[in-house]
Order: sequence, then C-alpha cells, then structure tokens
Amino acid sequence: MKKSIHDLGDIKGKRALVRVDVNVPMDENKNVTDDTRIRAILPTLQFLKDKGAKIILMAHLGRPKGEWKTEFSLEPVAKYMSKLLGEDVLFVKSPVGKGADKELEALKDGQIALLENIRFYKEEEAKDDDMTFAEELAKLGDFYVNDAFGAAHRKHTSTAKVAHILKPAVSGLLMEKELRCLSQALDNPVRPFTAVVGGAKVSSKIGVLENLIDKVDNLIIGGGMAYTFVKANGGKIGNSICEDDQMDVAKAIEKKAADKGVKIVMATDVLATDDFSGKGTNKVVDVKNIPDGFEGVDAGPETQKAFAEVLKNSKTILMNGPVGAFENPAFANGTKAVLQAIVDATKNGAVSVIGGGDSVSAAKQFFKAEDFTHVSTGGGASLEFIEGKVLPGVAALDDK
Ligand code: AMP
Repeated sequence: MKKSIHDLGDIKGKRALVRVDVNVPMDENKNVTDDTRIRAILPTLQFLKDKGAKIILMAHLGRPKGEWKTEFSLEPVAKYMSKLLGEDVLFVKSPVGKGADKELEALKDGQIALLENIRFYKEEEAKDDDMTFAEELAKLGDFYVNDAFGAAHRKHTSTAKVAHILKPAVSGLLMEKELRCLSQALDNPVRPFTAVVGGAKVSSKIGVLENLIDKVDNLIIGGGMAYTFVKANGGKIGNSICEDDQMDVAKAIEKKAADKGVKIVMATDVLATDDFSGKGTNKVVDVKNIPDGFEGVDAGPETQKAFAEVLKNSKTILMNGPVGAFENPAFANGTKAVLQAIVDATKNGAVSVIGGGDSVSAAKQFFKAEDFTHVSTGGGASLEFIEGKVLPGVAALDDK
C-alpha cells in the first residue's frame, strides 16, 4: 500500500508539487472539448486547498518531444481551470530553473499554479539516470503528489524520478482510487470473478490474458482477437482478422485455462459483414463457419446471451477491450449487451472495473461512468497494471 495525501500531517502553507494528467482534447480554437481528466483531479485539488497548501501542478499535453511549441502550451488548460473553479489559476510561463520559482513566489495558500508543458523539456522523457532536472523540479515543492494514473506507466522525471528526491511522495485521491479499485479486483476479488478481454489483437493482450488466467474464474474472450483462437481450433473464419503467428499462443492460453479450471467463454455465433463500413450485407453466422468474403465484426445474439448469463452471475468483473468493432453503430450491439450485463450485475452488488482505452470510450458512449464501480482514467497504465507490471510512477511513492 502506498501513502496518500490522507497520510500527510499539517501542510498549511507548504508547497505541494503535484503531477496530474490534464492531457485533454481541444478544438482548433483551443477550447477544451472533453474535461473528464480535469474533473477527475478536482477531489485532490479540493483536499489540498482545504488544508491550505500551495498547489503547483505539473502536466503534459500531447507529444512536443522536448521542444517549446506554442501549439502544445498548457495555457488554455490553465484558463479553462480558472473558469471551472471560479478562481485564478496561475499559469507559470517561465521555465523550471529559469524563473519559474520567482513566478511561484506570488502563490497564496490554497491557490493553484500550473507549470508549462513538462514535455517541453528534453529531460522529462530522457531514459537515463541523470537527476539534474528532477532536482530542479524538486526545489519547487515541499512534498510530492502523484495523481496522474494515466501517466504512471511512464518512467519520466515528473512521474517517477522526482518522487525519489522530493519527500514525502504520496498518491493523490484519483491515483489512490485507481490503485484500490484495480488491485481489489485483481488481488482480492469476490468470486466468481469474470474478465472480459476483447479488442483487435491477441498479440497486444497476451500479457493481460496470461496474468488474468491465474486469477479469474471465467474468461470471456471476444472481439477481433477471438478469431485467432477459432482458427487455431480448426474453424473457418472467412476474412476475419487473425494473427496466424499467434495461434500457438492462443492454444497455450486455452491449455493453461483448462489446467487451472478457468472457464473460457467464446462466441458461438457472430455478426459477419462483407463491408467493414457497415453498408454491405451483414448476417449472423456460426463462428466456426464464416463464409469467404465475410469477416466477423460483432458478437451474435446467442453469444450476447451467453456472455450476459456469465456476467449476471459474477461478483467481480473486469473489462478490457470491446467484443466488436463498436465504433460503427451497426457492429456495436455485442459490446452494448456486455456493458448492459455489467451494469445490471453492478446494480446487484458486483464490483465492476472498466480498464483500458477502448472499453472506457464504449462504456461512456453507451452508459454513465456512475453505472460501474470504477471506470479507469488510464489506458496504457491500466493495461500494464492488469498485466501485473509494476508502474514506475507508483513504485516511486512512499510505502505506508
Ligand atoms: P484494442 O486496442 O486491441 O483493445 O482494440 C480495440 C479495437 O478493436 C476497437 O477499435 C474495435 O473496433 C476493434 N475490434 C473489436 N472487434 C473487432 C473485429 N471483430 N474486427 C475488427 N476490429 C475489431
């Protein structure tokens, strides 16, 4: 267990150096078009404000790759936050080590400042052991907080290195919730525990499948990756996506599941199409007998029922990856049905965690975040967490 801001003593007047993830999408006029990530850090900001700390935020926007490019400036985000919070968020234009400290002298207790894009510094993402930039950053705070779960899988200066110097180094409330929800599901699940793993490729989910097999009771495998399993077992998959070089991996996963008594649940029928745009012929076919010229793009009705049945009887559910090409409404029914079953199970007391980029967008597109126990804010970070990897941004924080 890592320390959180709850474990700090009196922090009135102290400078909190806080890594946050406010990498929000903006339109061409620099208007924030989705403020989910900003809203997600509000509890941490409020907590620190109430305690009278001076709050100095470090964040990145886009991929400026170590160069000062105005198009990636965080100034519009500072403006947006000022409006959202109804108070002046100080935007620090001067670089760290070259005047940022002077600008920060104006910061009052409970006030928030945002530093310019931390990825404007080459040192931020440098893969070396040089701590000079970390030391410069550390001078700006009296303690360190990491609330950027979405960047916790990166071993960068602001997400990890600085936490080795500036102490105490603790998690913010969002980070704490992410870690609690994901670890509760993975390490201490109420059973039966079911994982839904979908998405396009087996190769990108091998780590997830291997780690989950040791933990779950049921493993629903859906989406494009399922066809590699079907073909490996002699099925005819037409033009469905398939990774021939992963068929051995698929077989090995099935064997491991059988050895461990884990039930693998896969599609029996699928919606197949002869046109991925959705405008051609779409028909429900046997997953083992997909006609040439057609590719499977969604779970069929019988499969949807079978997936829902398993989910309905589960007490812990983890979803990573959609079970169809849901971005096209014509192929979204399977993913919707799976999410509906998860929502119903959650209403009946199950713990549900949606982890990973595409499942999160599907969950938010068809339902509300409140319909689930937890919808992760980190795509890559939650994937690596589910794979059982140590996240550098978490490892660097103080243990309880
Ligand atoms: P991933 O990033 O590996 O989780 O893959 C997510 C993507 O897989 C989504 O964009 C889905 O549209 C896509 N996907 C899911 N099922 C299929 C399928 N049967 N055929 C093609 N793409 C799919």
